[in-house]
Amino acid sequence: MQTTIGAGAGRDPGGVPEESTRGRALFDLDGRVALVTGSSRGIGLALASGLAEAGATVVLNGLGADRLEASRRRLADRFGEDRVHAAAFDVTSPEEVRRGVAWIEDSVGPLRILVNNAGIQHRVPLLDLATEDWDRVIAADLTSAFLVGREAALRMVPRGAGKIINVCSVQSDLARPGIAPYTAAKGGLRNLTRAMTAEWAGRGLQVNGLAPGYIDTEMTRGLVEDEAFNAWVRGRTPAGRWGRVQDLVGPAVWLASDGSDYVNGQVVFIDGGMSVVV
Ligand code: NAP
Repeated sequence: MQTTIGAGAGRDPGGVPEESTRGRALFDLDGRVALVTGSSRGIGLALASGLAEAGATVVLNGLGADRLEASRRRLADRFGEDRVHAAAFDVTSPEEVRRGVAWIEDSVGPLRILVNNAGIQHRVPLLDLATEDWDRVIAADLTSAFLVGREAALRMVPRGAGKIINVCSVQSDLARPGIAPYTAAKGGLRNLTRAMTAEWAGRGLQVNGLAPGYIDTEMTRGLVEDEAFNAWVRGRTPAGRWGRVQDLVGPAVWLASDGSDYVNGQVVFIDGGMSVVV
């Protein structure tokens, strides 16, 4: 008896995969256009570089034009001018996001992969937190993913294909004193990933999250240099060390590739085990 399981119904369910679903081809991003927001430095730059390594044509983004151009230059020297582009726009501005994504579609090509990575931190106890700082962090860390995600999905949905990766955090699940707006935003981003999945998974998009633990970047430089905090991170992390930006590349390539075509709405924690051990 043949059961109906949607697309692909009628194939031998226990059969040997076709050639194109095996091995390296699964993770091949050749010819796919990827936008990584906040990729002038840190995690975003490492992810853009990793996606380019896997074959993607990448678009870097950030606020500061000079730093963005310097990063574009570095990657273009490795991967070629035609494979590395830059679009400076503010991910918290609906109008700039609209223009930025339109420019990518017109000048680079159809957007297939979006990594919502841009984000900021603001460390102040809740009782001292100004409303404008709360708003600023929520806008950069949560609303931005809605704005860029919506603009990208407006193109991806009619084409029936697209990968969106929202860069969450261990703070999507765990709180710490002094970073309430960040924790609220990253928790919201986890659920936005699910909301996008509810509406777009049936239209051919896979939306997932990457949740890094403590990674050594400019954002955490003060914490790395704080001896007590540094020791706390190493002691609290089962892997016994800070994360490196390169630790996030493999999972990002997977979530951007055909290898994750039936992975929907998940948040993958890349945290050396911090979120599963007390
Ligand atoms: P980072 O070194 O501070 O870099 C932040 C990037 O975001 C920069 O490229 C910055 O551009 C860009 N950016 C900030 N606001 C923007 C805006 N409004 N519009 C466009 N670009 C903007 O940060 P990171 O450590 O790499 O963190 C990247 C992401 O990972 C963030 O979402 C962060 O919350 C998350 N994360 C980090 C860690 C960690 O331990 N580092 C852990 C968990 C999650 P400019 O260079 O122009 O300022």
